[in-house]
Amino acid sequence: MEESVNLNSTLDPKDWSSMRSMGHEMIDDIMDYLEGIRTKPVWQEIPAAVKDSFQSPVPQKPSTIEEVYHEFKTNIFPYTKGNIHPRFFAWVQGTGTPFGVLAEMLSAAMNPNVTIGEHAPMYVDQQVVNWCKQIMNYPESATGILLSGASMANITALNVARNSQLKLNIRKTGVKAVPGQLVLYCSAETHSCIQKAAEVLGLGTDAVRKIKTNSDYQININELVKAIEADLAEGFYPFCVVGNAGTVNTGAIDPLDELAAVCLKYNLWFHIDGAFGALAKLVPAYSARLKAIEKADSVAFDLHKWMYMPYEIACVLIKDNHAHRSSFAVTPEYLLQQERGLAGGPDPVNNYGMELSRSFKALKVWMSLKEHGLEKYAEVINKNILQAFYLEKLVQQADNLELLCPVNLNIVCFRYVHQGLSVNDLEELNKEIIIQLQEQGIASPSSTILNGIYAIRVCIVNQRTLQADLDLLIEEIIRIGDQLIVSLNFAL
Ligand SMILES: *Cc1c(COP(=O)(O)O)cnc(C)c1O
Repeated sequence: MEESVNLNSTLDPKDWSSMRSMGHEMIDDIMDYLEGIRTKPVWQEIPAAVKDSFQSPVPQKPSTIEEVYHEFKTNIFPYTKGNIHPRFFAWVQGTGTPFGVLAEMLSAAMNPNVTIGEHAPMYVDQQVVNWCKQIMNYPESATGILLSGASMANITALNVARNSQLKLNIRKTGVKAVPGQLVLYCSAETHSCIQKAAEVLGLGTDAVRKIKTNSDYQININELVKAIEADLAEGFYPFCVVGNAGTVNTGAIDPLDELAAVCLKYNLWFHIDGAFGALAKLVPAYSARLKAIEKADSVAFDLHKWMYMPYEIACVLIKDNHAHRSSFAVTPEYLLQQERGLAGGPDPVNNYGMELSRSFKALKVWMSLKEHGLEKYAEVINKNILQAFYLEKLVQQADNLELLCPVNLNIVCFRYVHQGLSVNDLEELNKEIIIQLQEQGIASPSSTILNGIYAIRVCIVNQRTLQADLDLLIEEIIRIGDQLIVSLNFAL
């Protein structure tokens, strides 16, 4: 048995030259693909045979890299989600950039584990966090960490809020030490990751007070204050308010200054979920409204959405560096830092979050910001906002389209309407319009429900979208809607 084990076996190629030429071929294919993305369908159905191919068992024997790449090109590459396409408008999904792709490749080549140690990636990671502070105008003394997404960034901040806000050692005792149940407040329009965070942090769903919004989908401050007062009177333990800088449904920005004042009055941690909307701070027309992000104790935002970085990357910033570090720092024997050598270097990143092993996700941000400069990002973000207002105008000008919420950032919610159709009929009709837009590969909006009304939802965090893409979207929605009206199902 032992004789058969080769002590010199590795996973590196025997033939570096064929690996090299495969790499060149891939780069050519990638650049062709990205350059020509506009000519491709936004989305296409996955054939059954292709789906079946993903049922094959774990490979025991080798294939050639040519075979593997061929399978990728046949079964995976064409059937992508489409979020890099200029007419992808669903959910809140970023596009990435070509240079970002190359940065990811370099990061994978170096493959450092960016947690601890004296190596350049640690300093790049630190610099990107510092740039994030500058983008949000947070003080240099604030701390932050790059994470996989805003869900992780939000829970990281809420853990610090929970641990630091009380004069109790929650890290040691858990939440059972709290006299009365911990509660946090946010608007009913808040992203579901806040509720999940509360569940994971041991607070439970009941601890999330989802405060009613006004007709503009912003949190109602009077309702918030009433809820806090009622909870205090009943012996609950309020500790945090989560404000929205851009909700998923409509892009609503809560009145952040007023929230800051409420937090100050009741001594609550003020956290902001700015997953995409916080980046609008870079746009002059929004910088005043979003200035109160600077008053918050913490802010979470994605860089893979409205900074167009390849997935995954987000950032959380925390003003009180001591609160942040003392919420996460643990130093086991196997992670001791040294004065010199590889185990020197900056404060280990795992003192600021849950993850130990971390990719070099900072590199794509570092390279992309140098490539374009922050001003260019501000310009493209502003373009997306102005595109949303342009789309709003197109909707208002069309006889059979109805705007369902005034645009205030980068999201447009509307529906196709036709006289005499019930709310349910219109829902079916608009669902069908969205599906046909996707199946015909034209565009990918998503949907939502606003005040019980089914809406086509167009969210623009797309650096590739051009004005003509919005004209086409509207033309095609009207074409499909009109066709459906004359077809049997929707005949009156
Ligand atoms: C997308 C989003 C999140 C979650 O972010 P992920 O990066 O998907 O984890 C949270 N809040 C808002 C407002 C979002 O748009």
